[in-house]
Amino acid sequence: MNNSSAEEVLKDVFGFDAFRGKQKQIIEHIISGENVLAVMPTGAGKSLCFQLPGLMMDGLTIVVSPLISLMQNQVEALKIAGVAAETINSNTGPDEGREIWRKINDGTLKFLYVSPEKLMTEQMLDRVDELNVSLFAIDEAHCISQWGAAFRPEYEDLALLHRRYPNIPIIALTATADKGTREQICEKIFSDNVKTYLTGFDRPNIALNVEIKAGWKKQLLKFMKDRPGNENGIVYCLSRKKTEEATAILMESGYNALPYHAGMTGNDRERNLNKFMTEPDLIMVATIAFGMGIDKPDIRFVFHTDLPSSPEAYYQEIGRAGRDGDASIAHMLYGLDDIRMRRMFIDNEQSDDGHKRRGHQRLNALLSYAEAPECRRVTLLRYFGDDPEYEKCGNCDLCQNPRETVDAVEAGQKFISAIYRTGQSFGVAHIVNIVTGKMTDKISQLNHDMLPTFGVGKEYSINEWKVIARQLMARGFIVSDMEYGSLKITDEGFDLLRGNGEFRYRPDVSYKKSATSSNKKSAQVVQELPSEDQDLYLKLKSLRKEIAAERSVPAYIIFSDKSLIDMAVQKPTSYDDFGGVYGVGAEKQKKFAKQFTEFIAENLV
Ligand code: ADP
Ligand code: ZN
Repeated sequence: MNNSSAEEVLKDVFGFDAFRGKQKQIIEHIISGENVLAVMPTGAGKSLCFQLPGLMMDGLTIVVSPLISLMQNQVEALKIAGVAAETINSNTGPDEGREIWRKINDGTLKFLYVSPEKLMTEQMLDRVDELNVSLFAIDEAHCISQWGAAFRPEYEDLALLHRRYPNIPIIALTATADKGTREQICEKIFSDNVKTYLTGFDRPNIALNVEIKAGWKKQLLKFMKDRPGNENGIVYCLSRKKTEEATAILMESGYNALPYHAGMTGNDRERNLNKFMTEPDLIMVATIAFGMGIDKPDIRFVFHTDLPSSPEAYYQEIGRAGRDGDASIAHMLYGLDDIRMRRMFIDNEQSDDGHKRRGHQRLNALLSYAEAPECRRVTLLRYFGDDPEYEKCGNCDLCQNPRETVDAVEAGQKFISAIYRTGQSFGVAHIVNIVTGKMTDKISQLNHDMLPTFGVGKEYSINEWKVIARQLMARGFIVSDMEYGSLKITDEGFDLLRGNGEFRYRPDVSYKKSATSSNKKSAQVVQELPSEDQDLYLKLKSLRKEIAAERSVPAYIIFSDKSLIDMAVQKPTSYDDFGGVYGVGAEKQKKFAKQFTEFIAENLV
């Protein structure tokens, strides 16, 4: 066992001063030889929970991970921090493989990253039997659950691990919170012999905004214009075509954007992904095909041009922002068509009724979030089973720009009644025309001006009625027929019509105000730098870019933005001072002190 304390290793290898959240408890638990399931949101610092005890224990730590890109990234980051780590996967050549095995056999390797299918071969396990293994870490452990969308049959074999090696502790890690998935992990990987650490799901540094869709291209460009410029971001689109369009308009406006979708060749996709991972200040415009394994820490925004499928998908997608803990922003557009589209996707799925029902329930939960009466974060966290200590987070559009909701049962009844009286065969526009008493050709042809509901809703404008329709839909009182868009009344809708049920209407929040204040927050760290430090910061960024290119690793693996900001403030010009910078451990001090301190000294004069 390494004689340094966990705190010493944290400072020495990773350059951090303190543990975050439950890292310390988890690490102590593993070192005492016990199993752990760590459930933490993306960006909370899961990797450290097995990397640090792995470093403190004598033998080899075997890390199971589902994606080659994930493994490579972590291995590179460890190597730069001076830790002996390797990955064996389908890209490993025979010579390279022999070299890695030499290091494993002579005990110099500390971390071996492998895929589950590789590890669980009889040949591999026979070799593992002979090794001094101190820990197994199973990353993305939710892949073992058939419930989730990320199910990987190869993960099922990992159930054999604790039986074959009852004396080696196992840590499983995931960001997926739901109870069913957790139970499956505990049962399969540990036969329930495990201590679970669940950290709160709150990601307070991500500002949450939802904006009603009204010309997405214009809205996307407006959002970008309000940003400080030059930063990493992800724009999610529902279709390939839209992905291409969004990329094009961003490029035309001078942003550095790349597309990523299933219609591209594997090579093109990989090239764009590599660029995104290695080059700074890039916007990835992607369908959801892009996602798992993106652990770039300094993504500043995630922009959804369309509604995702569920709160789980949404939270995972926005969770890719702000892993470094700095202010970031999640901005989602959504409108009536999104609801219709999503319902259609679920109904068209090749799956049983139970699955479809759960799909609709999840969608409903996401719609309640989109139409939340107050604090979005509280709504979202409660859905995930967290019980936040506050009523208002102060960092969502509804907290920053609160709107009263008004009792609107009567308005709801008028609208539903108009749907009912026209045989549930017309879409939103026509029903809105009826209740506002607007004479159109269609209305006069069908004699709908003779209906008792014609013109009964003049207290609201046409636009306000559209909002009411959307909110009635979001809360499940009405649904829109997938083929023709005609509105149908649900059981709840009939209840409301009969006077049983509540419906509150929230006028659309004007988005402008919250956008500016969050943006300020997001750029704060850099804006707080005096202008001469700004300069230095930008120069340090370009130095980092050069070094990263020379070593062909992502820029953030050299240093995070946070480290560069700290450097720009502290301006270390000696070896020792350099060691005090955020994120500089002993090895990075050795590797980079000279280059950076000389660079800083030159740029001070
Ligand atoms: P996760 O796997 O949970 O999504 P990571 O392990 O990638 O998160 O960690 C996210 C970021 O937080 C990384 O940049 C990591 O270096 C940083 N980090 C982790 N633990 C600490 C800590 N105790 N202090 C400062 N930064 C930390
Ligand atoms: Zn809030």
